Amino acid sequence: MKAEIIAVGTELLLGQIANTNAQFLSQKLAEIGIGVYYHTVVGDNAERLYAVIQEAMDRSELIIFSGGLGPTKDDLTKETVAKVVNRPLVEDEQAMERILAYFAQRSIPMTENNRKQALVVEGSRVLPNDHGMAPGMAITYGAKQLMMLPGPPKELYPMFNQYGLPYLLSLLSENNIVYSKVLRFFGIGESALEESLIDLIDNQSNPTIAPLASEGEVTIRLTAQAQTAPEAEKLIRTVEQKIEERVGQYIYGYDEDSLASVLVAELTKQGATAAFAESVTGGLASHLLTSVPGSSRALAGSVVCYTNGVKHGQLGVPQDVLDTAGAVSEETARILAEQVRLRLGSSYGVSITGEAGPTPSEDKPVGLVYIGVSDGAKTEVKELQLSGGRYGIQLRAAKYAIFTLIERIKKGGF
Ligand code: ATP
Repeated sequence: MKAEIIAVGTELLLGQIANTNAQFLSQKLAEIGIGVYYHTVVGDNAERLYAVIQEAMDRSELIIFSGGLGPTKDDLTKETVAKVVNRPLVEDEQAMERILAYFAQRSIPMTENNRKQALVVEGSRVLPNDHGMAPGMAITYGAKQLMMLPGPPKELYPMFNQYGLPYLLSLLSENNIVYSKVLRFFGIGESALEESLIDLIDNQSNPTIAPLASEGEVTIRLTAQAQTAPEAEKLIRTVEQKIEERVGQYIYGYDEDSLASVLVAELTKQGATAAFAESVTGGLASHLLTSVPGSSRALAGSVVCYTNGVKHGQLGVPQDVLDTAGAVSEETARILAEQVRLRLGSSYGVSITGEAGPTPSEDKPVGLVYIGVSDGAKTEVKELQLSGGRYGIQLRAAKYAIFTLIERIKKGGF
């Protein structure tokens, strides 16, 4: 099924709001294997909207509209769609009841234009609005499917999830089980990952393979369609195994996992704890960890050792190491990891020291980061050259530190 999304609203064209509804809908459609080929934004203008719908009808099988279902004069999506499919607008009893109840509950008189919100295109399937007044609609017009959804995201998201999506799945008749799995990668860039999997990506059909990069991580979503759930899972597993053979060392988790949740789980499984000495990240790694419920079992504590004074005074980095090698150095990272482990009494000590910029200090290049991991028996230090702005470098450094400890735990040693 070829799909496209038409977002209606002059405020979108003026740049007052971003078209996040189209982003949401595209993601949701990709998950069930429906390809979106066009996003169009059109203002609240009947003529231009009509022209855009005509064009969409020529090239797409599924057209989803966002916005323009409200009570005011410039809300004209359903009027224009009704004209295109040549059907009248009729009052929907249930929608009208909801609108009347809404006003009765608030003891305010209903203005006449609100009646307009209960009008639906004749013969359409009404999608109830549980978070607002204007109902959505799904229309079958010959071989085409049209779906209208309200503009406010707090109405559109739940309406689509609860009513729109199941309806579309029922249309994808024979292969109506859709199974999706997200593989989470760290330590490999999107282009390097794609390069390693290029033949699989080029020949994808079922499951589809969708890579996505964000915040220093890459994910691959595999989506399979089949008649039964085990069949869909088997399709996914076959491709997943091929991916694991090539780049398995970079996979840290699946679906809703995060680096922090995986580390907390691994530490908890071992009955072990970690302590962090954070310089360049200023507590960010610890914050990521403490955002995970149950992290008190895994994180002993941390020291934000931002200045040389704290590195020396609280964590015992000798002054001559700071004076000669510098705060951003392998030696300092090593001592910080060892000392934070000893002083906080944890199983592992992790240190993060580096240069986030924008201007370099100590004559070290911006993005140079050292991550130390100590387990008592041994301490290893990784040197990284990270890219990005100040926060980008800090976030990547924090994630690298967490990932490095996960690797260490999974390998059972250095
Ligand atoms: P209403 O009953 O609120 O008028 P509507 O269906 O007529 O609903 P619009 O008037 O087009 O929708 O938009 C209402 C609000 O929803 C906008 O002011 C904006 O905040 C948000 N919105 C509309 N379209 C989008 C979009 N494509 N992406 C994100 N937000 C949107």
